[in-house]
Amino acid sequence: MISINKVDVKNKIVLIRVDFNVPLDEEHNVIDDTRIKAALPTIIHVLDNGGACVIISHLGRPKQKEHNFSLFHIKSCLEKNLKRDVIFHDDCIGKKAERLSKKLRPGEVLLLENLRFYPQEVDGNLAFSEKLSKHGEIYVNDAFGAAHRAHASTSTIAQFFKVKCLGLLLKKEISAINKITKKGKPPVLAILGGAKISSKITIIENILDKVDNIIIGGGMAYTFIKANGGNIGDSIFEEEYLEYTREISKKAIKKNVKIFLPIDVVIADRFSNDAIRKLSKINEIPLKWMGLDSGPETLSYFKDVILQSKTILWNGPLGVFEFNNFAEGTVALGRYIMEATKKGSFSLVGGGDSVAAVKKYGFDNKVSYVSTGGGAMLECLEGKTLPGIKALM
Ligand code: AMP
Repeated sequence: MISINKVDVKNKIVLIRVDFNVPLDEEHNVIDDTRIKAALPTIIHVLDNGGACVIISHLGRPKQKEHNFSLFHIKSCLEKNLKRDVIFHDDCIGKKAERLSKKLRPGEVLLLENLRFYPQEVDGNLAFSEKLSKHGEIYVNDAFGAAHRAHASTSTIAQFFKVKCLGLLLKKEISAINKITKKGKPPVLAILGGAKISSKITIIENILDKVDNIIIGGGMAYTFIKANGGNIGDSIFEEEYLEYTREISKKAIKKNVKIFLPIDVVIADRFSNDAIRKLSKINEIPLKWMGLDSGPETLSYFKDVILQSKTILWNGPLGVFEFNNFAEGTVALGRYIMEATKKGSFSLVGGGDSVAAVKKYGFDNKVSYVSTGGGAMLECLEGKTLPGIKALM
């Protein structure tokens, strides 16, 4: 697999699949342009080296052509970030779109309309991807957030190109994940939080071979505690995974991996930010009370492990951080990871809610890498080769 910086793009038209699936407000303004900023290095690299860019992306999950999901809404934000004009066309395939892409001169950028206005995109349709392929001489996939999908523009399309390569963002994402799963400097720590064990089983199984320590926090921890005979009150847990957590604990011992579970938690009398709060040992939670955040003893226990780790992966919050009154554990965790990073450890934050948490509390620039892809990142951690990457091999 090669990346775009190893390819001669001079006087070439480069078709770049990006992930511009950004949130918009009611007036269609971009609320968070992180994904647009993340795609800039590849686009700028092509432009600075004498090429032109045709940019394709999806936005949301439209069933058909819908104004609310038009990539036209992204145009001005892209122009502002690129500091140059962008041509927009209201279709991603067709004769007119092709004429526009063929006419591009070095330094020009053409943004095409939302790929998902065609259901063939999600179906991975061959004929549709061939039509898309007409827009460029070189194909670049830089859409990490969509790389776990075998769609027309992320996977099927690659076969129509002699020159196909990784974008700089995709390259960076893969290298960050490899730092955890392939050559993590020991001790390697994975911190897994969030609501459910069921959604993280494959990750736990896969990383048992790659890490030295695992912290299990958030809602996931209660299934482990209950499986060990603890009283968890009304805390979230998954009955059908009780046995599984026992097996995982045994496997971890065999593989010499230490699992760290919370000791104390902040409990609430109902699932609400305004609930009454108390501290409790995690295995002595009274009936009708539920654990919604980590307690101080837990945090200091976790802090020690984090500060001793040289490589840290964080996926999933340590509590219901959406409620300010139960966000303390997640915020503290972010602070410890930040501290470890400052001391030279490599830290990767990825997968949905933990990314939201680091952004909400301003840690995003203080960890080594924040992944731009939720589902894609999780599938990498599960040990899968993503279709978008396989297609470039
Ligand atoms: P996930 O998508 O599996 O990473 O889960 C993230 C969600 O887990 C967030 O919305 C948190 O509010 C939720 N969560 C974390 N800790 C708890 C808990 N103790 N009880 C219920 N939900 C939790």
